[in-house]
Amino acid sequence: MARRLNEPSSLPSVPPAGARLTYNSIKTDQKVVAMTFDDGPHPSNTPRLLKILRDRNIKATFYLVGKNAKAYPSIVRQIISEGHEIGNHTWTHGSLTSMSDEQIRRELKMSSDAVFEATGHRPQTIRPPYGAINQRVKELMFREFGYPTIMWSVDPQDWRKPGVSVVTSRIVNAAHPGAILLAHDIHAPTIDAMPATFDQLLAKGYRFVTVSQLMNIEKASVPLGVLMTPARVAGADPAPFQP
Ligand SMILES: [Zn+2]
Repeated sequence: MARRLNEPSSLPSVPPAGARLTYNSIKTDQKVVAMTFDDGPHPSNTPRLLKILRDRNIKATFYLVGKNAKAYPSIVRQIISEGHEIGNHTWTHGSLTSMSDEQIRRELKMSSDAVFEATGHRPQTIRPPYGAINQRVKELMFREFGYPTIMWSVDPQDWRKPGVSVVTSRIVNAAHPGAILLAHDIHAPTIDAMPATFDQLLAKGYRFVTVSQLMNIEKASVPLGVLMTPARVAGADPAPFQP
């Protein structure tokens, strides 16, 4: 059977203006999902994953740990040059909720700098390690770094190494339109599970986009009249109607 290829989206790989503070998924009727990989780059598993993605024309989002990005800058460059998106996953993979504001700033900046030094691009979103998050941390990261907090709606618990076919079936069975799918590219069995996972989702008619593209899909599908109220400038007269 010929392998089905993903049809990449042409939407921007940066969050839209007016992005929400937190995303677990988006509301959409489209069969579209964002596959995310945390904790890399890993010197052998990440390149192996990149080939699996390339063979299917799939674009994913990588939440890199800053220290690892610093250690493997050529893999960071490859992630960007192959059309994937990179998000911030802190410098040390510590729990953000137990850090002071100043520690959070340092963690996020060092991680962003490592990605920037490797690629000239800065991460545009954050995934909190362990999913540890609260309102104080979310608002600080949004206000000072412009980062929406990206959680997930499908978690196969792949880091527990439940078995390759279990990782695949958990993701495929739980996938839904607008889902954000979580996995970790530092574990070899997770990479082993990806060819069947991708092929089964493609066969079900799913398309893969990056996290920011998913956010742009949500933005574009907001019904007219909800966010489309014309901006009003104080003191300005309405423009005369031009037929
Ligand atoms: Zn992590």
